[in-house]
Amino acid sequence: MAQFRNFRMVGYVVYGRGSFNQLDEILAPRRNGDAPMIFLVDHFFENNALLNRIPLRGKDKIIMADVTYEPKTTQVDKLARELKAEFGNVSGIIGIGGGSVMDLAKAVALMMTNPGSSADYQGWDLVKQAGVYHVGIPTLSGTGAEVSRTTVLTGPTRKLGMNSDFTPFDQIVLDPELTANAPANQRFYTGMDCYIHCIESLEGTYLNEFSKSYGEKALQLCREVFVEKETWDAECDDKLMMASYAGGMSIAYSQVGVAHAVSYGLAYLLGTKHGIGNCIVMNHLEEYYPAGVAEFKGMVERHNIHIPQGICQGLTENQFDIMMNVALSLKPLWENALGTDWEKIMTREKLRALYGRL
Ligand code: NAD
Ligand code: ZN
Repeated sequence: MAQFRNFRMVGYVVYGRGSFNQLDEILAPRRNGDAPMIFLVDHFFENNALLNRIPLRGKDKIIMADVTYEPKTTQVDKLARELKAEFGNVSGIIGIGGGSVMDLAKAVALMMTNPGSSADYQGWDLVKQAGVYHVGIPTLSGTGAEVSRTTVLTGPTRKLGMNSDFTPFDQIVLDPELTANAPANQRFYTGMDCYIHCIESLEGTYLNEFSKSYGEKALQLCREVFVEKETWDAECDDKLMMASYAGGMSIAYSQVGVAHAVSYGLAYLLGTKHGIGNCIVMNHLEEYYPAGVAEFKGMVERHNIHIPQGICQGLTENQFDIMMNVALSLKPLWENALGTDWEKIMTREKLRALYGRL
């Protein structure tokens, strides 16, 4: 009998320019006595006027999150430990930032109520207790972290998400104004994460009509902003935010594929960030996604974006092995991309050659 994934989604969604201004009234009914709301804010917004718009009440606290590196299990554990020591209980965690800060917020919310280390929960459905109330407010569009049931963390032995029904946000605030000042390169890398999600989902073997409906819409929106528009404007921010949402919904019922699997290996060994890492890999995937890669290259050229080359030059065989082990451990991604016989198609030799070209 077929088993269909029965997945949990985000609780509440508000979308619109200026919707951030509703945050105070959104949070009010979720406050438990004097337990504070904790605002985890991307360090990009240090000294930014956005901080003055955060609706602080009582013991509420703003914590600036350093996302120079992608979130680590040690960083999550430390934040949760310090919050428990300082406040005992908190009413909620609100993540304001790119995918990194949103993932941090989800993970810290879970670790406020679950024992041990976040590294114990990297995997599928290992989290047993609901976390505290958590809200995601993206300031970059593309990762789909605002809708996903995972929070990607680099742990002691792997880079893997805490995938669970307790991970999705209780509330998201989609205000495209918050993405307005993102630099063109960063906007492109994160936007391409969405584009690549769409290609991997739409070309994958797990595809069903649910995923296809969202994936096609997200792809269309990506094309409108990155292929058709002459110059970037507010409408592009509006569209890319919805592309990210729809792209995330698409992979909820399918999976990502080759670019992500290979990119995870780079991230683990070299610390390559998700958006740019996906671009570095996508640049060399003609064999798997010919039409998508051709269109991708056109967008890179059109937006005059630098995609690094030769990042694996000089690595030792041992280091290539580490990356390959990380990539090959992500079985659902390969199965989605290449089918159940994927191990015969993506042999270690083939993957080694691919890494060698990056
Ligand atoms: P990011 O969150 O890592 O941020 C990239 C840089 O942009 C940072 O320096 C940040 O400070 C800065 N920044 C954030 N908002 C900005 C703004 N408005 N203007 C200018 N700069 C801004 O980048 P990302 O691509 O959004 O997220 C990548 C992360 O998301 C990775 O850690 C990846 O693992 C994770 N991810 C998670 C999921 C999921 O489903 N949970 C999916 C994809 C990626
Ligand atoms: Zn991604």
